[in-house]
Amino acid sequence: MKRIYLDYAATTPTSPEVVKVMLPYFTEAFGNPSSLYSYGQEAKGSIEEARVKVAELIGARSEELVFTSGGTEADNFAIKGVAFANESRGNHIITSSVEHHAVIETCKFLERRGFKVTYLSVDGNGLVDPDDVRKAIADKTILISVMHANNEMGTIEPIAEIGKIAREAGVYFHTDAVQTVGHIPVNVNELRVDLLSMSAHKFYGPNGVGALYIRKGTKLISCMHGGEQERRRRASTENVPGIVGFGKATELTQQEISEEAERLTCLRGRLVKGLLERIDHTRLNGHPIMRLPNNVNVSVDYVEGESMILNLDLEGICASTGSACSSSSLEPSHVLLAMGLSHELAHGSLRFSLGKWTTEEEIERVLDVLPRIVAKLRAMSPLLKSHG
Ligand code: PLP
Repeated sequence: MKRIYLDYAATTPTSPEVVKVMLPYFTEAFGNPSSLYSYGQEAKGSIEEARVKVAELIGARSEELVFTSGGTEADNFAIKGVAFANESRGNHIITSSVEHHAVIETCKFLERRGFKVTYLSVDGNGLVDPDDVRKAIADKTILISVMHANNEMGTIEPIAEIGKIAREAGVYFHTDAVQTVGHIPVNVNELRVDLLSMSAHKFYGPNGVGALYIRKGTKLISCMHGGEQERRRRASTENVPGIVGFGKATELTQQEISEEAERLTCLRGRLVKGLLERIDHTRLNGHPIMRLPNNVNVSVDYVEGESMILNLDLEGICASTGSACSSSSLEPSHVLLAMGLSHELAHGSLRFSLGKWTTEEEIERVLDVLPRIVAKLRAMSPLLKSHG
């Protein structure tokens, strides 16, 4: 059976072109970039080339980028780094209730250490209201962190507007752009952000490498102490093959980003329309228009998300319920609950995320298979019986 992978928001396969440029860095050009001999200096040169490419993708200067082990580390670095460096100015942080766990758990950690955090609510489409951000700013606010697009329900937040408010108030602004970089145009100046997190494995680069953009002049402390790598901002021997692969993935995405976003928006539309037409009592979660081109998230009444995922898997289709990171937990998604969905609807959610290798035939196959799965599950559902 041919597998259909529709979980690109969880991770993407690494492009063959990316793997190809990475390989020599494991065996031939393996030098430590801190070594003075040419082996080391060549590796250092490759890192700097990748840095220029990644910076260019987001409209930044290369010296404003620090490579990390991924999006999670970039989020931790941004939030803890700013919080601990600016403690004397204030201890208040503003974020949203739909952030990724990498942001929410970091904020909770800081709360246990005396920081105060405001978790802004969102509307039924998952949007943060910039006016709520404005109202939440107080004398002691040192940081605002609102994600660019949500990994579960795909809503794109009004980051540029929030950026304007943050700048007027003199408060640092961070955005988690792990789901947008490589998929839609991202420019740190247009978004008016001071810090931005990204991750290579979400756009056909390797796992275990990401970056934090830090606007020149932003006061933050390092979270990783040791050697003097990354201009003393992040100690540890660099992941040279990963960084080179990140650079290549950036180059590839830059060539295809608009065309691919358009193609995926069409496929997305087809999938949403088909699902809503063919399965009754189904709703689209997230904003209908301001959403990631590749994200479809629906709630299906009277059926558990987990049961749909397992049945889809038997048909060779990979999708997810909640986020990849929380789908092993029985708790319903905090994102869907924050948008006002009931526990039942949140439990009945299904996320399809499309990507480079998604075809129309694959979408048609989902539209053929899922209504049958839902009908079968509903026939057995105690939830449906209890609703008469
Ligand atoms: N932030 C968002 C919005 C994500 O979707 C993810 C991964 O799913 C992360 C952060 C974590 O990124 P990484 O897996 O590179 O640590």
